[in-house]
Amino acid sequence: MLTRLSSTTHEGLYRVDDAASGLRGFIALHSTRLGPAAGGLRMRVYDNDQAAIDDVLNLSRGMSYKNAAAGLPLGGGKAVILGDPRTEKTPEKLRAFGRAIDALQGQYWTAEDMGMAPSDMAELAKETRFVAGLDSGNHASGDPSPVTAQGVFNAMLIGSEKQFGNKDLTSRRVAVQGLGHVGWHLCRLLQAAGAHLIVADMDPVVVADAVQTFGADVAAPSDIHQTQVDIFAPCAIGGILNNHTIPQINARLIAGAANNQLASPADADALQDRGILYLPDYVANAGGIINVAAEILQIENRQKWVDEKLTALNATMARIVIRAAAEGISPAHMADRTVDDMLLKVAI
Ligand code: NAD
Repeated sequence: MLTRLSSTTHEGLYRVDDAASGLRGFIALHSTRLGPAAGGLRMRVYDNDQAAIDDVLNLSRGMSYKNAAAGLPLGGGKAVILGDPRTEKTPEKLRAFGRAIDALQGQYWTAEDMGMAPSDMAELAKETRFVAGLDSGNHASGDPSPVTAQGVFNAMLIGSEKQFGNKDLTSRRVAVQGLGHVGWHLCRLLQAAGAHLIVADMDPVVVADAVQTFGADVAAPSDIHQTQVDIFAPCAIGGILNNHTIPQINARLIAGAANNQLASPADADALQDRGILYLPDYVANAGGIINVAAEILQIENRQKWVDEKLTALNATMARIVIRAAAEGISPAHMADRTVDDMLLKVAI
């Protein structure tokens, strides 16, 4: 049911099968150097097993960087289940996956990712205690999105000071791509700070709501990245910063919640060359994992702890921006280097 596969880049890669429920999935542990590997469980359709393996390897590596940047005693891991979450997710598959997680004896902690809800985490929790993102229970952390949005907002203030000379967002024009869990909370914070919002989402109902609630202007999803704004906040999909979109961007600052915003590392340089300050996504959006970590680590005074970690995250982002400017490189590269240094300092 849990089969170890070989990997030259990761500490552990496992295939998870359960013939009785039809479960097929993978768990990747990129690094446990800082602590147990933590990262969400995603369910989606993949073209084939290799595509799922590539995804889980890539995502788990990203979690090592995010958890380290957030100053958490957690390594990087991730898990995927193959299949359409709307039609192929069953309690039996989730229970079987829970048993697989349990067999790793705490080397891997899971939580929600794409295609998963708190109720699914509750199903996993029937088989293993190594699951977070629960709605109820002693240390349940609930929806991480408000904390993620706060982290993105804080990052924007740092970026504003660097690019515009102050942290005042009054009348700054901000384009928010994606009005989901994080995007919506971010709009609230931006409105309270006096920013003028331009928004886009695939769902016209939520867009109409944003017009009503925030007095936002609307852009088409295909155009939101090229609106005339000061700040662009990608809060929807990965890969939005690529060789097609970057030449069209008018914002001077990019800070958002979406994971893997850069289509390739070279896109960080393309933004840098255009004088656009890009705040590394995994630092800007680490508020969510901080919130989940409080549950994994069973922190008693969670609000105080989360606030302290967010403050430290803010300081890390500020340092990355200053050092990157001093060396004339993208903050994305400086963030990677900062985390590489942190990981190297930890004895194996
Ligand atoms: P969500 O699913 O609640 O919202 C995403 C929104 O984006 C939806 O309203 C969707 O209609 C919209 N959307 C999809 N494609 C779009 C497009 N091309 N143009 C405009 N809108 C589009 O997701 P979320 O929880 O708000 O997360 C947003 C992003 O942030 C994701 O990339 C997620 O991985 C990342 N993230 C989220 C958290 C968190 O705490 N929720 C933490 C870290 C990173």
